[in-house]
Amino acid sequence: TVGVCCLDSRGMLASGTSTSGLFMKMPGRVGDSPICGSGFYADSDIGAAAATGVGEEIMKGCLSYEVVRRMQQGQEPQEAASTLVAEFTQKLIRKRGQAEAISLICVDKDGRWGVGTNIKFAFVVSDQNHSAKVYVAEPTT
Ligand code: ASP
Repeated sequence: TVGVCCLDSRGMLASGTSTSGLFMKMPGRVGDSPICGSGFYADSDIGAAAATGVGEEIMKGCLSYEVVRRMQQGQEPQEAASTLVAEFTQKLIRKRGQAEAISLICVDKDGRWGVGTNIKFAFVVSDQNHSAKVYVAEPTT
């Protein structure tokens, strides 16, 4: 999945995803990527988010909606994303003994961004000057 979160010069937020789904997926499978609240979510009063990883896991937690909800409650984007992915990963491990890959990017209405992942995850941040910087996030547990 390629996921994107954007804040424009008028303060509007948007997010989007493009995906081929999972390798060897069942015909007809619908993952998280096209589902608002799971693969992506945006509310211009709060923030925007996009997810990648195993959709069956991401959908169980409605993770893109949940990270925006946590920002609404006052968490910084980085705190919201990293604690959500860590907590949700631990929950999956408690229930099933394992967790599949989950990564989440988010930005708030002030342009502060965050990332949460349970794998090694590369992402890019670009600003109004079109400068782009590549980061690699490590799992937070
Ligand atoms: N999230 C996508 C899906 O489950 C796959 C991916 O992110 O690579 O369909």
